[in-house]
Amino acid sequence: MKKWLAQALSTTMDAKARGSDTAVDSQVRESCRQQASFGPGAHLGRRSLLRAISMGPAALALPIAPQAWAAAPRTLSFYHTHTGERRVVEYYASGRYQPDALDELNRLLRDFRTGEAIEMDAKLFDLLYGVSLAVGRGTFEIVSGYRSPKTNAMLRQRSGGVAKKSLHMQGRAIDVRLSGRDTRRMRDAAIALRAGGVGYYARSNFVHLDTGRVRRW
Ligand SMILES: [Zn+2]
Repeated sequence: MKKWLAQALSTTMDAKARGSDTAVDSQVRESCRQQASFGPGAHLGRRSLLRAISMGPAALALPIAPQAWAAAPRTLSFYHTHTGERRVVEYYASGRYQPDALDELNRLLRDFRTGEAIEMDAKLFDLLYGVSLAVGRGTFEIVSGYRSPKTNAMLRQRSGGVAKKSLHMQGRAIDVRLSGRDTRRMRDAAIALRAGGVGYYARSNFVHLDTGRVRRW
């Protein structure tokens, strides 16, 4: 059971990242301001998936036959909290990412303040997909996606907690919550995937996810 799921998700794995399953540094206290100066993050590696699976039956409660899952379409549902846009996007199908769907997601996750878009890291969508498998499908409410240099500079002026080079500026981070789901459970599921950074913002009720180094705060 575990093997097939690992194999299924490994089709989208960054080969370079395999084996870079670095330990979670619970001492690291960073926020969305995290600098992006480190190397490729530990993406959805086999060990990460097995760990995610070990979280419980939720991760295994797939509605379709295991053999079919690898090639099965991966669909994500979004609602943008700032623009009001809604999208249901099948971003992965027939064993590959769908360019048109990724373009649609890039536009959806644009800097809503300036209208600028960037190519988002597709592994971010796999991370969201993995989270939704663990905690239950639903609509991801986008709080923040791409941030342009201009917006980042503006946010830096407004708050001392925004660094020069956020992973949001590289299209490798997203701030989200999952409609109708406990945001803490979402955080725990993302941490278990060990696919990047996970930040929990209780007061604003969202989770920051990125494809950078594995860490949490
Ligand atoms: Zn963030």
